[in-house]
Amino acid sequence: LMKKVDQLKDEFIGLVSHELRTPLTVILGALNTVLGEGGKLSQQEIRHLTEDAYWEAERLSNILANLLELARAQANRLQLLEEPVDMKEFIDTVVREVKWRATAHEIVIDCRGSLMVAADRVRVERILLNLLDNAVKYSLPGSTIRVFAKRTDNEVVIGVCDQGIGIPVKDQERIFKPFQRLETPDKVGGTGLGLVVCQRLVEAQGGRIWVESQPGQGSTFYFT
Ligand code: ADP
Repeated sequence: LMKKVDQLKDEFIGLVSHELRTPLTVILGALNTVLGEGGKLSQQEIRHLTEDAYWEAERLSNILANLLELARAQANRLQLLEEPVDMKEFIDTVVREVKWRATAHEIVIDCRGSLMVAADRVRVERILLNLLDNAVKYSLPGSTIRVFAKRTDNEVVIGVCDQGIGIPVKDQERIFKPFQRLETPDKVGGTGLGLVVCQRLVEAQGGRIWVESQPGQGSTFYFT
């Protein structure tokens, strides 16, 4: 077991440091250019560089948020704050935010019926952001991502459906474990933290999370 733990720790340090460093390099480079050559750059160039820095900072912030949530979950210190949430309104807000940076994808929303739930808003946002980020990362630009929500007997099911590379059935359990990543054709970056955090946050709120997918046919992640 200790060997396994050590190995996981090593993998973790390698993967996460790399994923933290990449955005930081972009941020430092962009800011360095703006500060060093500010006078020679056009307004538009400055705007582009600042935007790049901003999106990369947001990526960093997301990775750190996932790390913190996983650490809290492991220590049984999630301290959920339950409040009434109108999922319809909530999904609109989160999707609008994601659309800002994921301009190459079409994101559509399909919400039906009354969707009031008792949930931790910040945590549901984290879940939805992770699932949407994945949907964007593992599907081609120009494809459509559908976010839907519907009420079944006494719960609300939320789904994120992409037209991407899909996930073989044999790997569908494994991807919810920490740091597990599948081979992808164009070596998409990631920490392997997103889905384990989703699972912990869903289960801490009494919900379930699962995936339906076929390689080449896209994936749908559901949570209640
Ligand atoms: P990350 O995306 O940072 O690697 P996640 O925990 O979010 O980590 O996902 C784990 C793995 O599951 C990914 O590396 C990828 O192989 C697979 N995966 C997750 N979401 C999707 C998706 N929508 N389509 C295809 N594969 C996915």
